[in-house]
Amino acid sequence: MYNAIIVGTGPAGLTAAIYLARANMEPLVIEGPEPGGQLTTTTEVENFPGFPEGIMGPELIANMRTQAERFGAKFRTGWVNKVDMSNRPFKLEIEGGEELVTKSIIISTGASAKYLGIPGEKDNIGRGISTCATCDGFFFRGKKIIVVGGGDSAMEEAHFLTKFASEVRIVHRRDELRASKIMQDRARANSKIAWELNKTPIEVVANERGVTGLKVLNNATGEEELLETDGVFITIGHTPNTTFLDGQLQTNEIGYLLVKPGTTETNIPGVFACGDVQDPTYRQAITAAGSGCMAALDCEKFVEGHAVHDWSQSLNETESVQHV
Ligand code: NAP
Repeated sequence: MYNAIIVGTGPAGLTAAIYLARANMEPLVIEGPEPGGQLTTTTEVENFPGFPEGIMGPELIANMRTQAERFGAKFRTGWVNKVDMSNRPFKLEIEGGEELVTKSIIISTGASAKYLGIPGEKDNIGRGISTCATCDGFFFRGKKIIVVGGGDSAMEEAHFLTKFASEVRIVHRRDELRASKIMQDRARANSKIAWELNKTPIEVVANERGVTGLKVLNNATGEEELLETDGVFITIGHTPNTTFLDGQLQTNEIGYLLVKPGTTETNIPGVFACGDVQDPTYRQAITAAGSGCMAALDCEKFVEGHAVHDWSQSLNETESVQHV
């Protein structure tokens, strides 16, 4: 039986692994289909403290993993198909049918940015297509940018990107925005933001150097238009990766795991959540790493505190939690 199984290998999971391994908890880390998470889809990370010259996302993740392995964390690759949290010890079934048994679980499966699913999009990730203005805005100084989406994220990212870009155009598929009034008002008051409403993106156009345009369908006229641009920021929402939990943990109304304020505890004692899977707000590598550290400390305390208990006892400690 493991002391702790960590599911997910972004900065949250890997930081938890470093801390638990250093505490001699011998954690097992399960690496899913997108090892390293969203950082592996960005290029240079310039805002992670400690790297004054910046560091490539995949390198940062590889370093964290090496650090965790150095202290004895073990890694396994494979989907977690099922988790049974109704009894302790908890049981996880991984790809191939093997069952793993553990005293505690840290969920750090992150959230995946939604993509449009149009031609030219996936091929140009990191070559003009981005889903994170905070990460990549800096690379578009003096350039033309399109932000796709009509929600609060689109308004916020567009506003932020006007600090760098010569022009920001918001492309939204309807006439009406989904964003809250205050966010809309702020974007509308920004003279560097232009609007392309009622236009549905249909293709990303690129050359050998990267993105050059976004083809859209004008829903009012039925005509195709080509909007020239140097970059397209897709801000149509994120999906927290929780399907495998099968509804056993409490979430907020948009699917993010709920933790008790100031902790990483979910509604099931012994199950902790950290990183983007429980954070619809900040979503940064450094905040994910910070919450990974918190999860490891919470988890260690939990496992030590229950050392004399019968681990196979039935769970009756499930309680309600509120989001921070
Ligand atoms: P969201 O509210 O779900 O908005 C997503 C937007 O993307 C919608 O306008 C939607 O269009 C559009 N969209 C979705 N799929 C699309 C597709 N396939 N093609 C084209 N457009 C598509 O997501 P969000 O903006 O990321 O916000 C998520 C949550 O975080 C919200 O609750 C939001 O209030 C919150 N948030 C708050 C703040 C803040 O208060 N500072 C900042 C960011 C986010 P339709 O409108 O036509 O559906």
